[in-house]
Amino acid sequence: MANYGIIGFGCAGYYGARTIRENDPDGNITVFSEHSYAPYNPMLTTYYVAGKIPFEGMFPFGSLEKISDGLKLNLITGKKVAKVDAQAKTVVMEDGEKHTFDKLLIATGASAFAPKFEGLAPQEAFYMRTLDDAIKLKNALDTGSYKSALVVGASMVGIKVVELLNNKGIKTTLADMAPRIFPLAAYENVAKEIERRIAEKGVNLALGSALQSVEKTDCGYKCNMSDGTVVNADLIVLCIGTRTNVSIADPAQIKINRGIIVDDNMATSAEGVYAAGDVSEGGELQSKDKMIIGLWANAAHQGITAGANMAGATASFDGNFMHNITHFMDMDFIGFGDNRLKGQVVTSGHIDKGLYVEAVIGENGLVGVNILDNYRISGTVKNYLYRIIEGGSAKLSPIQKGILIKEGLRPSFIEKMEGKADVK
Ligand SMILES: Cc1cc2nc3c(=O)[nH]c(=O)nc-3n(C[C@H](O)[C@H](O)[C@H](O)COP(=O)(O)OP(=O)(O)OC[C@H]3O[C@@H](n4cnc5c(N)ncnc54)[C@H](O)[C@@H]3O)c2cc1C
Repeated sequence: MANYGIIGFGCAGYYGARTIRENDPDGNITVFSEHSYAPYNPMLTTYYVAGKIPFEGMFPFGSLEKISDGLKLNLITGKKVAKVDAQAKTVVMEDGEKHTFDKLLIATGASAFAPKFEGLAPQEAFYMRTLDDAIKLKNALDTGSYKSALVVGASMVGIKVVELLNNKGIKTTLADMAPRIFPLAAYENVAKEIERRIAEKGVNLALGSALQSVEKTDCGYKCNMSDGTVVNADLIVLCIGTRTNVSIADPAQIKINRGIIVDDNMATSAEGVYAAGDVSEGGELQSKDKMIIGLWANAAHQGITAGANMAGATASFDGNFMHNITHFMDMDFIGFGDNRLKGQVVTSGHIDKGLYVEAVIGENGLVGVNILDNYRISGTVKNYLYRIIEGGSAKLSPIQKGILIKEGLRPSFIEKMEGKADVK
């Protein structure tokens, strides 16, 4: 009987376990999880903190007991894995306990990363990565004692935190060393418009300005910014970035860059060891490079692919491209493709009202799109970009065109979007 190990029970770990069980009804599956929660969806944590969903709403697959019974898992929870020995095929726990495996999935995700700031102990700041981070922030906000906040990191996570703080009447500043919001997803015009709308809602923007040091005052913190300005806040939330949880793997045994390098089968360089989700660097379709793509659907596909191959079936996943679909502060922002890719810029609609689309057309066709205020066209546009990247048909079907026109895109824009950039 095969002996499977899965380290980390988030999205990738759950889908990995489920797929192994689908393909091997009798195998022994041991799941190692550092906490005792059921797999949860991190993107729902801000809704929980905002009071929009109950605690149970964050667990898309049900309780740990139900999952464990349904998939016949051996669960080892509330304990951290310290080390993987890929040659000896053992998982070593922090207390020294050892477990052997035939096939192993590393699905340990990523952790919030924040540099040290002079004057601010790490535990004084708040983060938004794990369920425990969400509980800590919710408990703090439920006291009703916070009046002003500094959120560092103008990312999709940062904006969700800003939204919930602003809705609670907390005077909030959003800071980022990047000169504009969503630096990895938005085009400049779109970023400026989003910033205008956020400012209109009463949020103070400190872009192009990094937090440098903190001094305690009678009523909170004096936050010294790199441009010489000062932000006074009694709550500091750091949404600066993430680091993959790779320290359990030995780079002499398993190839690691920023994440664990995987092939299209989610196999690592070590025989019998697989990786999936935010901890892994798999295919990025536009650059054709290995990249960490920190998205829920990506972690799910990778977990399914890894689980199938571990259990003797064949599955492959050649990767994904950068995409974000986010609703916040009464607007929808959708960004598809690498926003650093250059080309001919075409637009449809007025940026300050209704549907606005900005597309960048490269030599081989569409390379990226920003959409403001219409998530209904996102599926069609994403699918179209995917086909272009895969080298397939570069034409929209009549039904797809109909959807885009019905939602307000001009036919002349659609024609340009289907074209290629003029190369002189
Ligand atoms: C606030 C927030 C908002 C987000 N919004 C979106 C969104 O809108 N759309 C989208 O697509 N994606 C979003 N994401 C990203 C998405 O949630 C992740 O890409 C996805 O959850 C990754 O799943 P994973 O299984 O790889 O990692 P995780 O869900 O992080 O699971 C990894 C698990 O491994 C455990 N673990 C780590 N180390 C060890 C160890 N040594 N021993 C035992 N266990 C260990 C961790 O405790 C964790 O439970 C968001 C993320 C956050 C934090």
